[in-house]
Amino acid sequence: MEITFTGKRALVTGAGKGIGRATALALARGGADVTAVTRTQADLDSLVQECPSIQPVCVDLADWDATEHALKNVGPIDLLVNNAGCAMLESFLEITEAQFDKSFNVNVKAALHVAQIVARGMKARGSPGAIVNVSSQAAQCAFKDHAVYCATKGALDMLTSVMALELGPYQIRVNSVNPTVVLTDMAKIGWSDPVKAKGMISRIPMGKFAEVEDVVNSILFLLSDKTAMTNGVTLPVDGGFLAC
Ligand code: NAP
Repeated sequence: MEITFTGKRALVTGAGKGIGRATALALARGGADVTAVTRTQADLDSLVQECPSIQPVCVDLADWDATEHALKNVGPIDLLVNNAGCAMLESFLEITEAQFDKSFNVNVKAALHVAQIVARGMKARGSPGAIVNVSSQAAQCAFKDHAVYCATKGALDMLTSVMALELGPYQIRVNSVNPTVVLTDMAKIGWSDPVKAKGMISRIPMGKFAEVEDVVNSILFLLSDKTAMTNGVTLPVDGGFLAC
């Protein structure tokens, strides 16, 4: 099965590191014109050095007005990957208002806002489109010290459902991927400890964490015409974790 994105225009958020960076590069390799959005300019510089066709946009997506301004002239987009996210781990009794607000601003509010900007353009042009929200197994399972993170991803899954319902009539498909642990910079904070990692791996039927490539391939599949009638799903990329 061959998937190509020639002639498609894609926007990936959180494209500076980890899953987002690999997704942006894979889409560019697949023929898409890619806009990469993240907040650290040095990451964008190295990304463009690696793939000169990528259009960089530097903005803190937690800032609604700055995002509106930064994406004003981004042009028509066919494919959106809402990947930017943060994980602030804290025991439930110690969570602060600032941690709560930042997490929801990045993981939920920014995804809603960027999708609004992109989907309004699709609707105005009468163009079909595909949106993938990068959620987590944590949307559907409780983890210690993950109260806010789990809540943001649970909210993102419900956002995916309602977006699928409301945007489907415009032929805009909205789905999510829900990975298990992938040892990116984000996950190293929570899962580098071998004892903790072993506990998690023992709950994954396939006995291992996911690789960045596993998540990227599922994102590409959901963006592609191979899933032309798939709308509103939350696709686990978890080796069977959520099946247990
Ligand atoms: P990562 O390596 O930390 O990369 C996250 C990217 O998002 C970075 O480029 C980061 O930029 C960017 N970002 C964060 N906050 C931003 C903001 N306010 N504005 C603009 N860009 C921002 O994380 P990852 O592991 O690839 O995670 C990507 C997505 O997968 C997240 O939504 C995460 O929740 C989800 N996920 C990850 C795992 C895992 O185990 N890794 C599992 C399930 C789901 P800076 O570095 O400059 O902040």
